[in-house]
Order: sequence, then structure tokens, then C-alpha cells
Amino acid sequence: MNHLINTFPSRSVAVVLGTRPELVKLAELIRTLGPAARVLHTGQHYDDDLSGSFLDELGLPAPEYLTGVGGRPRALQVANALAGLDERFAAEPPLAVVVQGDTNAALAGALAANARDLPLVHVEAGLRSHDRAMPEEHNRVLIDRLADVLCAATPDNRELLLAEGVPAERIAVTGNTVVEAVRRHRPRAEDREAVLAEYGLTRDGYVLATIHRPENTDDPAVLAVVLGELAGLAHELPVVLPLHPRTRVRTEEAGLDPLLDDVTCIPPVDYTTFLALAGDAAVLVSDSGGVQEETTVLGRPLVAVRRSTERPEALAEFADLVTPGLGISTAVHRRLAQGKAGLRRLASLPSPFGDGHASERIAGLLTQVVRPSTAEGPRGPTAPHAVRPHRSAPAVFAGV
Ligand code: UDP
Repeated sequence: MNHLINTFPSRSVAVVLGTRPELVKLAELIRTLGPAARVLHTGQHYDDDLSGSFLDELGLPAPEYLTGVGGRPRALQVANALAGLDERFAAEPPLAVVVQGDTNAALAGALAANARDLPLVHVEAGLRSHDRAMPEEHNRVLIDRLADVLCAATPDNRELLLAEGVPAERIAVTGNTVVEAVRRHRPRAEDREAVLAEYGLTRDGYVLATIHRPENTDDPAVLAVVLGELAGLAHELPVVLPLHPRTRVRTEEAGLDPLLDDVTCIPPVDYTTFLALAGDAAVLVSDSGGVQEETTVLGRPLVAVRRSTERPEALAEFADLVTPGLGISTAVHRRLAQGKAGLRRLASLPSPFGDGHASERIAGLLTQVVRPSTAEGPRGPTAPHAVRPHRSAPAVFAGV
């Protein structure tokens, strides 16, 4: 498979992304694609903590940056990214477009591919929260409708797509690329110890929290309850909170800073540091999507602070879903009560999100839609071209 990737023309696969989790989850695929990857960053996440420093850390090539997206309302993020991508795809058409997940950047990438009739590969297809209040849910559904190749992370994701009428031949179960991201970037034991020492923490002796979703931050009353729960826990054991820029701003605006007095607030940390902290935490408290998956690879318990989840696979063993509110500390106490034996049990369980070879499989799927110039056609070597799978008209047209 890899030798075929090596024959792809340079910059022939456009990888469109715009946020921290997309960088994490597409890094291994971008590395596998090598010179064939053309990374386009919409600028949806524009803080250096959430983007620039991540590119360096993950060893990714400098992306092409779009402008006019970061900090804008959702419609403008999508519209401006779409316009920017279309301009670039017109000037230098890729042979395929890859997007990941459910962000506005991913939706813009999918629409841009569709507008230029380019094959679209969707990494992490088939997630559904069925929560129509989540913009991401709409993004996911729309991207899955447009995609030619749907890389479902789990067999359940595939089933959800089939139930929506997506033809089976468009779907492949690849696993989630986060598994290889965690395995590659989790530091070795001695480096983890050094990270814990830096923050004055002991293994299995602290809570790591991340809170950034609008459902937890945008209503001051809800934010007050969530931060109040963390503050209460901080009287019992250290609570470390890498503070997302949105949460920091909302906390200041609502005058809730005093609730954070006993919480160890730190700026967002790099991925390696985050994995070091997450892998040795007694319990995590988070509303992040990616963290729900990562804790299953790290074998640590999670209290997921959300109304709904599109990752129910994590709930079987690793995570407890708690509506933003007063149940957070109760759920944390339940996990703490399971002690070392509980942690050992989780560490022995496999992640439901795959075996760490998803990126390799996705690169393999790309060889079905990108035909490099060296491939032999019936009349000798063909020029590089895109193959549009599953796009032929139905044999019988049933419409009017
Ligand atoms: N993360 C990180 N540093 C932090 C907090 C989170 O590297 O200080 C990583 C985390 O491991 C996960 C990703 O950022 O891979 C999650 O990003 P976020 O919570 O912004 O997005 P979501 O997963 O909810 O889409």
C-alpha cells in the first residue's frame, strides 16, 4: 500500500482542517501521505496554544492558511473557508480531499470538494449524538451525505450510516486515528514522571479536567455549577484544569474567577504533556469529544460532562455521561471509590476505537480514488487523475 502512496503526485491530496483535534487525528495520515499531502488550515482555531505550536509538535508540514474564519460566527466560518478553498482548488486542483470529524472547517472542506467534483474522504464518519442542538451533529450528517469514502471508526458507526441509507460500498470500518496518535505521542514513564513533578502531582492522585463546549460555558449559571463542582473536588484532591480560551473568557465575563481559586488552572498544554497528565489521572472530567476516545486508550476513567454523546462506545466501561450539573462530583467519587483495582481493570481493557492502524487503512482507501501517473492504464502510463467511486448513475432511474 505504501509504495502506491509514494507514487502519488506531490500535493495531490488536500487535507482540510482547522482545529486542535483535527491536527491530532490527521497527523499520522499526513505523515503517511508524505509529499502527497497538501494541508489547508482554515484558521478556525487561531490561538497558538491550540494550533501553531501543535503543528510543530506533531511534526506536520507548514499548512496553507486561509483568512477570515477564526472568531467569526458559524455561517461566516463556513462561507469564508468555502470561498478560500474554492479559490485554491481552482488554482491547483487536488485529486482528492480529506476531512475529519464534524467541525466547520470539515464541512467547508466537504462542500468545497463537492463544488469542484473532487472525491471526498471523511475520516471519523458515522458518529451521531442525535442531538439537534449541537452544530457538530448537523456538520457530521451533511459531510457524510457528501462523502465518497466514509471511514467509520467502529462497526456501530457503520451501522448508523447503513440505517441512514448510505450504500455499504462507500463505508469502510477503519478504527479511529486517535488510537495511533495516543500511542505515538504518550511520553515514556520517566518523562511522564517529570511532567507530574513539574505540576506537583502524584500518579493516580489528581483529577484532570477540560471544559470548553458552549453547553457548559455559554450560560453563566451552568458554568457556575460546573466550576463549583470542580472547586468542591479541589478541596479533596488536586484538580488540574488546562483552561481553554473560550472558558477563560466566559469565566471572566461572568465574574466566576473566584471559583477557580483552589483549582490548578494552567494554559492549554501541548499534546504530549496532556497525554502525560491524562494517563496518570485518577479520574478525568471533560466535555471534549477526543478525550472520550483517548481515555479508552490510556485506560483511565472519565466523567463526560455533556447532555449527549456521539461516542457511546466509551460509555460501556470507561466513561460516565453526566448532564452538566451537580452530578459531576458524585460520579467522580464513584470512580475514586473503585481505587487502584478499578484503574488496573480499565488498563487491561482494549479500546473500542480500534487497533492503531486506522491511518494506514485510510491511506489505503485513498489509493482507490487517486490514480498516480505511474499507474498503468490500458494504453500505457496514465496521467494523474481522480477516480470517482460510487458516482455512476443508478441503472434504473426511478425519478419523474
Ligand atoms: N488537548 C491538548 N491539550 C489540552 C487540552 C486538550 O492537547 O490542554 C487535546 C486532547 O488530548 C484532545 C484534543 O485536544 O486530543 C481535544 O480537543 P478539544 O477538546 O478542543 O476538541 P473536541 O475533542 O471536543 O472536538
